[in-house]
Amino acid sequence: IPESAWSRALHLIGQSDEVALVCHVTPDGDALGSMLAVAYVLRSMGKRVVASFGDQPFAVPRLLRFLPGQEMLVPPAEFPAAPELVISFDSSTFERLGLLSDNTARAREVIVIDHHPSNGGFGTLGLIDAKAAATAMLAEQLIYRLGGRLDLDIATCLYAGLVTDTGSFRYSSTTPAVHQMAARLVATGLRTDEIARELWDRSPFGYLKVLAAALDRVALEGGLVWTYVTRVDRAAYGLPYAELEGIIDIVRRTDEAEVTVVLKEDDQGAWQVSTRSKGTVDVGTACAALGGGGHHNAAGYTSHATVEETMAALKRELGMA
Ligand code: 5GP
Ligand code: MN
Ligand code: MN
Repeated sequence: IPESAWSRALHLIGQSDEVALVCHVTPDGDALGSMLAVAYVLRSMGKRVVASFGDQPFAVPRLLRFLPGQEMLVPPAEFPAAPELVISFDSSTFERLGLLSDNTARAREVIVIDHHPSNGGFGTLGLIDAKAAATAMLAEQLIYRLGGRLDLDIATCLYAGLVTDTGSFRYSSTTPAVHQMAARLVATGLRTDEIARELWDRSPFGYLKVLAAALDRVALEGGLVWTYVTRVDRAAYGLPYAELEGIIDIVRRTDEAEVTVVLKEDDQGAWQVSTRSKGTVDVGTACAALGGGGHHNAAGYTSHATVEETMAALKRELGMA
């Protein structure tokens, strides 16, 4: 990120009394954590801050309810219709902002903080680094440049982003800079064990049953392992869609598979397609070609076709047909 982009960002923020923050829909730890961390700092600078994401219904995913600072969130209906300045976190396109994509597109200035290679540069100013392991790393930079300091709350938010997007420091994106940042965050006194429990060890019992259904129909085809979870599977245990996120991490353990795919039927009946690669196949490009996006090793999109049609189209894009 060029120095001129950072100065421009500081200038735009300095000029604005009110800053509207937004992150991608169904936020993960990186999206929500980065946004809340910056919200704290802007608020301490005396700015009026609104922060939101464009989901209907509007609810913070259960796994992220431990994050501090949620009192700064407002539902999309209370987000300014045409804000002066918006800062967008962890989103590669206007569309990924869901209900808030139009509000953001109408803003006078939009600073985009992101690390997706598929980010084509929407908004009026990009703070985009596809080599960053998490948007949280760029958010930390912005915080320092604004003169902010890490406290326990801010560090907790940033750590949630760093630990989720690096797969608990396992992915290839885990550079020395990632561990150095983690050290700064942990030094504030945050409890990594408690955060890990909140993020990964709080599934309701029904999750195991739905996971069992998914594993029961898992298929291995060449270097591809895949399965799906229906609305009906979830309804039997009252399991919300958002609880399905971790299933792919279990399916991808398969040694024989280079690529892992999990199709998750949402409450509207659309298939949310999650893909993971172990390195040799670029799932990000395949998902972008199918209307979504993401990274080389983790990407996704939405499909309105059947499971069979969806898999056929995806295998074609992956060159695994
Ligand atoms: P997940 O499988 O965890 O839902 O998504 C993995 C990654 O793929 C996300 O971090 C995000 O970068 C990307 N991704 C998932 N779904 C979509 C989508 O519908 N559109 C775009 N542009 N990216 C997506
Ligand atoms: Mn994200
Ligand atoms: Mn991210």
